[in-house]
Amino acid sequence: MKKILFNMTDAELAQFVENMGLPRFRAKQIREWLNRGAPDFSVMKNLPEKLRDDLNANAQTLPLRVVKELESSDGQTTKFLLELGDGEQIECVLMRTSYGNSVCVSSQAGCAMGCKFCASTLLGLKRNLTVNEIYAQILVAQWELRNDKLSDKPIRPNGDANNGDVSHIVIMGTGEPLQNVENVIGFIERANSDMGIGWRKITVSTCGIVPGIHELTRWGRPINLAISLHAPTDELRSKIMPINNKYHLQDVLDAAFEFSGLHNRQLMIEYILLAVRGENGEPELLNCTPEYAEKLSELLRGQNCMVNLIPWNAVDERDFVSPSGNAVHRFQDILIKNGVHTRIRRERGNDIGSACGQLRLKHKK
Ligand code: SF4
Repeated sequence: MKKILFNMTDAELAQFVENMGLPRFRAKQIREWLNRGAPDFSVMKNLPEKLRDDLNANAQTLPLRVVKELESSDGQTTKFLLELGDGEQIECVLMRTSYGNSVCVSSQAGCAMGCKFCASTLLGLKRNLTVNEIYAQILVAQWELRNDKLSDKPIRPNGDANNGDVSHIVIMGTGEPLQNVENVIGFIERANSDMGIGWRKITVSTCGIVPGIHELTRWGRPINLAISLHAPTDELRSKIMPINNKYHLQDVLDAAFEFSGLHNRQLMIEYILLAVRGENGEPELLNCTPEYAEKLSELLRGQNCMVNLIPWNAVDERDFVSPSGNAVHRFQDILIKNGVHTRIRRERGNDIGSACGQLRLKHKK
């Protein structure tokens, strides 16, 4: 098995270089390339060609490699299918937005949570990702942005030039971050210290692991928290999200508002709008009827939060269908009328299946 140089400490890398009979300064050169996300040794042009070939034969740079890369037709979203050292696969998504470059990273290979609308959970949980494996996803995106810059691609939707840096992180890819909370915290600390990404530009999204939310509260950094809510009653939520049988809706919201209140941050509420196919073949609203909009308003009225409404993005293996545009807007109107901040999230990268887990699932098949 090839050695992964990114996982080595500086001392280990120096020893590795020395064992190859090379001067020590090569370790420093290699480290600089690793920190920039070099996908292999061929790109390290300040190393002799023979050395690059030897390194490619015996070692790899990052703890993951890009298996597939898809770009949306508008060029704003790039989705990566990545393979870890043990063959497990994960996804990460780079979004070039008007406010910066945002990367959505995975925290686990697969997921045990069983949410009924999600492709990531269909193959179960394989394992937690290490700090390095989460961090390396950012480096993959950073490398891509550097290539954007070299190719003079017009980057931002608002026409701004791209400065080539990742500016925002969302931990919302494959996996439940708060089931891997220690490594997720380690990753965030590192993204902040090594890459200079501000706490307020980092968002953790959870399906509602209450002890994990409390742990974030104790940790005390002013990051953003997003709750995947998707239903305003325990009865309905337990049907869509089995975790609700363990951590009930109100307990999740209490813990989440305690966290966001601590730093005076707005809590993000994620709400996928789902319909099912009725007997006559027409969509029948599941969690987005006017009654549910009223119930959701009751839960959130007067709280410092923003509801992101996400119209269902089809996953072939799931039985849901998209609600009509009218139903989506009616749901939003009721929330707004009740004083709940709400927006409909623009879907990005639909043409490349950017919803969580879709690419990994297709590739496994
Ligand atoms: S939505 Fe998130 S927590 Fe739920 S199954 Fe998918 S990855 Fe897991």
